[in-house]
Amino acid sequence: MSKRLLLKLSGEVISGDKNFGISPKVLNRIVSEIVQLKKQNYEIAVVIGGGNIYRGSKLIKEMNFPDYKSHHMGMIGTVINGLALETAIRKKGVKAQNYSAFTVEGITSRFDVEKARDRIGDTVLIFTGGTGNPFFSTDSAAALRAAEIEADLLLKATKVDGVYSEDPEKNPEAEFFKNISYSEYIRRDLQVMDSSSVLICKENQIPIYVFNINKKNNLNLVLNDNTHYTLIN
Ligand code: UDP
Repeated sequence: MSKRLLLKLSGEVISGDKNFGISPKVLNRIVSEIVQLKKQNYEIAVVIGGGNIYRGSKLIKEMNFPDYKSHHMGMIGTVINGLALETAIRKKGVKAQNYSAFTVEGITSRFDVEKARDRIGDTVLIFTGGTGNPFFSTDSAAALRAAEIEADLLLKATKVDGVYSEDPEKNPEAEFFKNISYSEYIRRDLQVMDSSSVLICKENQIPIYVFNINKKNNLNLVLNDNTHYTLIN
């Protein structure tokens, strides 16, 4: 039976070095790697974030917006990214379908777990809109969707090689974990993925692979155990 993967991409990852919007070069490279996996018969679902389109803290602080409004804007940002991802995958001749936690009438279909499970065999599924609720993250959405579709593993794409005891960009001496248990990850309050998403994976026994998507071909290398990554299980 083919392996069913849930890939979590943050918005930041597809913005490249601009930290805003979508970098065609980065999007194209990541899409090529996803398409390559699909051709190896993996079943693939992607949850995409939205931090490259909208981050709410400034509006909350400086304009006194209520938190929920910023979260709504953030969730809509993920749909914009999902449409780009869906289109880029289709352009490479592979079926892709964006399912959002809420509908944008005429543009996206609403997430439906049974349709998703029916289609994942031949279609790359893209889940957008997060969980559809404010005060959650797209990491939680990734864990939730992974549980719903019974993914074999969750691949968390980041800009570092895996889980460290501290942010390695701030402390180069930070300890790298090759393997860490769900409970230890939560106990140490590590920040690569939020703890609520790790808890959902723990309850559903979904292993999490944290790896660096900025390194070329790493998506493939992780699955073949040929690169640095952290396994949370
Ligand atoms: N968001 C939300 N509910 C969700 C998922 C996301 O309200 O279930 C909002 C939240 O404000 C978040 C934003 O959407 O900051 C973008 O998601 P996230 O920060 O997870 O994106 P990423 O950092 O992965 O790009």
